[in-house]
Amino acid sequence: MKTLVTGGAGFVGSHLVEHLLAAGDEVTVLDDLSTGSIRNLLGLQSHPRLNIVFGSILRPRSVREAIAGCDRVFHLAAVVGVKLIVEQPLRGLRVNLHGTENVLDAAVGVGASVLLVSTSEIYGKNTADSLHEESDRILGSPLASRWTYAAAKGLDESFARAYVDEFGLDVSIVRLFNTVGPRQTGRYGMVVPNLVGQAVRGVPLTVFGDGTQSRCFSYVGDVVPAMVQLAEHEHESGQAFNLGGAHEVSIVDLAERIVARLDSQSAIEFIPYDVAYSPGFEDMRRRVPDNTKARLAVGYHPATSLNEIIDLVAAGIQKSGTRPDDLMSIVGATTTADL
Ligand code: UDP
Repeated sequence: MKTLVTGGAGFVGSHLVEHLLAAGDEVTVLDDLSTGSIRNLLGLQSHPRLNIVFGSILRPRSVREAIAGCDRVFHLAAVVGVKLIVEQPLRGLRVNLHGTENVLDAAVGVGASVLLVSTSEIYGKNTADSLHEESDRILGSPLASRWTYAAAKGLDESFARAYVDEFGLDVSIVRLFNTVGPRQTGRYGMVVPNLVGQAVRGVPLTVFGDGTQSRCFSYVGDVVPAMVQLAEHEHESGQAFNLGGAHEVSIVDLAERIVARLDSQSAIEFIPYDVAYSPGFEDMRRRVPDNTKARLAVGYHPATSLNEIIDLVAAGIQKSGTRPDDLMSIVGATTTADL
């Protein structure tokens, strides 16, 4: 099997590349290293079945060249992270909309199947007990940059669906719910690497708002095999599948658990949303997945516990050395390309 992974130097992408290589695939990575890092592929760069192409999905020619000869594409390249989206909404809209269209178009051109990686953000402010694939989306104003990520990713799914209907493209969609694990950077705001990094460094853990907002964290090592199984599973083209964690935790409980688990001396500091992000910022209060569809299709089971996840993320940070520039601080978070 010859597979293109867009965004293969990113956090989830690099774990996926490892998995595909171990399964015997020939893998091409297309990445512009804007939020990903070549460090994520260290140790793999001389693998005989890995071809790394530096280029942007915004350039149709780069996508067409990278996909040539591929049987399938896992499309992960995207501008991600709430902080980055709030700071650079135009970049997010362009990459997440135009880039995805380029990938779908190129896949039609070579007859490749597509696994489109989408996000639980598309459900927006729906705080239902568990969000299933047909749940309603509740989004705020299109004029608030915070909602542009959910809007663009939702349209990506609609694009994919239209390519199924009009070109017969073979597409599966996965919606990831707060996937975490080693190599995820805190630079763009993601809470687990950020808080674990702060605990390891012994500086205050930054909890935004009052900390009662909740999430269900899933481990990248549980999610990646399910993504591949879903790409290979026989189902009607254009279907979406949630892939999330099993246990809901509030952010303040997460912070307390991280401090206790890592035996850290760090305090917990509450930061108002308008300081952490921007004035008028609206957070998702709650996000709980219903994973039934993926469980019935491919036996998806998010087995790794939150304690294990904390240990694995802390070990990853300790192994790579604590790099303060990787750990978003409230003031002066860097969002520059990592070339
Ligand atoms: N968050 C926090 N401290 C941080 C980073 C994030 O309290 O240092 C909060 C954030 O406001 C949100 C939750 O943690 O309520 C999850 O944030 P993340 O960006 O990881 O994921 P998402 O908001 O996309 O679910």
